[in-house]
Amino acid sequence: MDKKYDVVIVGTGAAGLYAALSFPNSVKVLLVSKRELELSNSSLAQGGVACVLDTIHDSYKLHITDTLIAGKYKNNLSAVEKLVSEGPSDVLKIKDLGVDFDLNEDGTMCKTLEAGHSRNRIVHHKDSTGKAIVDRLIAEVSKLNNVTICDNALVYSIDKVLNGFYINILKNKEALHIGCNYCLLATGGIGRVYKYTTNSAIATGDGIAFSYMLGAKISHLSRIQFHPTAFAADQDRERFLISEAVRGEGAVLLNCKGERFAFDYDKRGELAPRDVVSNAIMLESIKTNSEKFYLDITHKPADFLKNRFPMIYERCLEEGVDITKDKIPVFPCQHYLMGGINVDLDARTSVDGLYAAGECSHTGVHGANRLASNSLLEALVFSRAAAADITRRIKKYGRKTLGNEPAHRGIEGKPMPQGYRSKIRELLQDAYFVIPKPEKFEQSYKQAEQILTELFSDNFEITSDLVEAKSIAIVANIILDEVREGINL
Ligand SMILES: Cc1cc2nc3c(=O)[nH]c(=O)nc-3n(C[C@H](O)[C@H](O)[C@H](O)COP(=O)(O)OP(=O)(O)OC[C@H]3O[C@@H](n4cnc5c(N)ncnc54)[C@H](O)[C@@H]3O)c2cc1C
Repeated sequence: MDKKYDVVIVGTGAAGLYAALSFPNSVKVLLVSKRELELSNSSLAQGGVACVLDTIHDSYKLHITDTLIAGKYKNNLSAVEKLVSEGPSDVLKIKDLGVDFDLNEDGTMCKTLEAGHSRNRIVHHKDSTGKAIVDRLIAEVSKLNNVTICDNALVYSIDKVLNGFYINILKNKEALHIGCNYCLLATGGIGRVYKYTTNSAIATGDGIAFSYMLGAKISHLSRIQFHPTAFAADQDRERFLISEAVRGEGAVLLNCKGERFAFDYDKRGELAPRDVVSNAIMLESIKTNSEKFYLDITHKPADFLKNRFPMIYERCLEEGVDITKDKIPVFPCQHYLMGGINVDLDARTSVDGLYAAGECSHTGVHGANRLASNSLLEALVFSRAAAADITRRIKKYGRKTLGNEPAHRGIEGKPMPQGYRSKIRELLQDAYFVIPKPEKFEQSYKQAEQILTELFSDNFEITSDLVEAKSIAIVANIILDEVREGINL
């Protein structure tokens, strides 16, 4: 690894990988990932990518309208238009790079329906689309000689200097300080701020915390999507998802008495947007005084289910549930962050030279609620936009001298006491899960603020535990501050 790059990309999910592929060979890029390259929310994506590839049966206008309806018209229309109109060419590009999308017999891409979409427009690779995309993009990035890949390398802080940044990285218990003119944060979501989430272990909001410390504008962190149908395991923090596509293929939602109830809450029934179905489950839970809910798709042929949902079939079997014969226990779970680091249509944050793309960013495309399968599309479109803007700036202004390297503190210090992260998760789970509890906001905020103060008041040893505890504490504070102020609710 060198001491200086044109661009450092933090994150190897769909956003980080696709950005790396979108730079010309002349731009020198460092791509870092805090764990293995494949460990990300992108790898977990099941359903697919929403995009309009067939303008006879579908249209950009319909995709835009569906996105706005799901987002309760709180979306940024220009960002939605960019997403919908530019997305198809990015999807075709990754297909050309070899992503193995499911095809019809005539060679066209299979398109399925998901909740909130008025047309079949979700392209997919069985029920493991994200893994198919990530694996293929990693293989392609590995061929590039302008991109250096560094895995198991935790960015623990970022310093702003005159014309760029120093990215402070913990690798093999050693601190590295890498200079760059531009930095793209593609660090993903915040699921680990909650007790139960579908998100991968890396989703601790690090990029959001770094941006906040650099003074970047952060928007709508309390716009959190709770997925209605995560597998209701007893203890696991990371709950696997029973994708929307299962309801798209006809699964019905049942309460503890075996009754269908989704139509009692919304005329779209099981296919209403996620927030509507999650709310329906929570209200039905109060009504029936039970947290037992099920998805039932046993009326479909077993062969169809095994072929259409091989991953869900296998994962459920591991939990003792055969989806071809048994009802699947489900309950809502933290799933996705609509807000994030505020960016413009070129993925620029409010800090010069700092970009953000993917789930850590807030482009405004999702408004108050994300339409299913729009997030991989957003990761592709806006990470490519970031790469294009940075490339243009390098060509126009050349490579600038960074400015003086700041003094860095060593990584040594006393060990951080245990328990901070669990406490924060409990605070959020209790005060702000699907149906907010305003009576808890003020007290939860004060407790989260106290934890944050303690984490920053001591020179603890810099470890991944400390960095992630600080990140989730910052994120929790911003969320609880927004909700107690009544923003977004
Ligand atoms: C179970 C599940 C199913 C989903 N299904 C779909 C779907 O069907 N369709 C869809 O459109 N969306 C889906 N989503 C959402 C979608 O997968 C994500 O929003 C999207 O993939 C996020 O991509 P990303 O590149 O922004 O972040 P991620 O893919 O999460 O990548 C984040 C990267 O940042 C790195 N990183 C983080 N912090 C640091 C640090 N401090 N130092 C170094 N590296 C760091 C991580 O190591 C990782 O490489 C799903 C999400 C989940 C959890």
